[in-house]
Amino acid sequence: MVAPSISTIALPRILRIGGGASRQLPELLATLGLSRPFLVSDAFLEQSGMLEPILSGLAAAGIAARVFTGTVPDPTSASIDAGLEALRGGEHDCVVGFGGGSPLDSAKAIAMLAVHGGGMADYKVPHVQDAPGLPIIAIPTTAGTGSEATRVCVITDSETDEKMLCGGLAYLPVAALVDHELTHEKPWRLTADTGIDSLTHAIEAYVSRRANPFSDGFALSSMRLIAPNLRRVCAEPTDAVAREAMMLGALQGGIAFSNSSVALVHGMSRPIGAHFHVPHGLSNAMLLPTVTAWSAPAAVHRYADCARAMGIAAEGEGDQSAVARLVAELEALNRDLKVPGPADYGISAQRWRDLVPVMCEQAISSGSPANNPRVPDAGELAGLYDRVFAA
Ligand code: NAD
Repeated sequence: MVAPSISTIALPRILRIGGGASRQLPELLATLGLSRPFLVSDAFLEQSGMLEPILSGLAAAGIAARVFTGTVPDPTSASIDAGLEALRGGEHDCVVGFGGGSPLDSAKAIAMLAVHGGGMADYKVPHVQDAPGLPIIAIPTTAGTGSEATRVCVITDSETDEKMLCGGLAYLPVAALVDHELTHEKPWRLTADTGIDSLTHAIEAYVSRRANPFSDGFALSSMRLIAPNLRRVCAEPTDAVAREAMMLGALQGGIAFSNSSVALVHGMSRPIGAHFHVPHGLSNAMLLPTVTAWSAPAAVHRYADCARAMGIAAEGEGDQSAVARLVAELEALNRDLKVPGPADYGISAQRWRDLVPVMCEQAISSGSPANNPRVPDAGELAGLYDRVFAA
């Protein structure tokens, strides 16, 4: 039993960060004593040619990799089972994930199940899976989820449509190659959505009841990087300096929340993603201003710090005023990044209302709302879903 004042910090053993880092995969594998990778990516990254340099680099080093590109956005237990079957067709000593959060989380789930068996529904929270699976190496391409440095993975149950949070050290990559050059071609919408996802990680890690001095440093640094660069990467997709800052901010946001937690926004966001197929960053964005305004009275000083780190409140400015600026900035960001509300996204009001009870139940059972500075009861949670639809 760990005393409440003791924080358990867990990080990848190796992080190689910088333009071109992904080309060091063969050398990284050698450093780790690994030689038979199972590579998990997605069909778009394969067809776009982005995966090719990774494969040719491995081939040049004499490493034969089996490739699985059958992952889907917001991976499902069925897509994980297909990946697992492909892995079992060969002899592998590690799993390499190349892509956004979906391939990275797929790699994590496959690596864990390869050793421990069963299906992902057996491993959802409150289960904690610390015993390791196969070693995982992560190469992120979206500057968003921070999954390359987190001890969680998110898999949707194909039978119930529940977006299951699964946590434990088994999901923490042993190493990550963080190469911002992989993000330069991201389209505008993906850039905006994944950037807001990173910002949400940093804010939630900082205001979480499980925040600690270690996670605070990474959360604040992440906000300092993301806030001035998010609109900039959307306006100037080829701005390498801004892309690099976003990639580092995403990594730091991942480190922050993995060693603290996410909170109410993520708790409410996963069911929206699962039931209405809204991309993860976008569903976070739909919720962030409303949930921040509702939560802030319980942690005014912490939210004010977020405003200061984001550069939208002066250092000496009072907390209440700083929090008002934070909420206004999150609303402005959604306007500037053209974040639709649920209705504009095409979700019917009736179906939303019908699903609110299930979404509330799934949000609460994920455990994330309990980490929020203000913890909603079931009625308040339903009220927040109503408010977000009306906003
Ligand atoms: P994604 O991996 O689902 O990718 C979205 C789309 O972008 C795909 O079509 C993909 O092919 C494409 N894409 C990826 N990289 C690209 C690039 N560089 N250029 C152009 N297109 C590119 O998106 P995501 O937002 O990174 O991941 C979302 C998933 O991650 C969700 O399932 C979410 O729940 C999960 N997630 C996991 C964690 C974690 O710590 N494990 C944290 C947050 C979110």
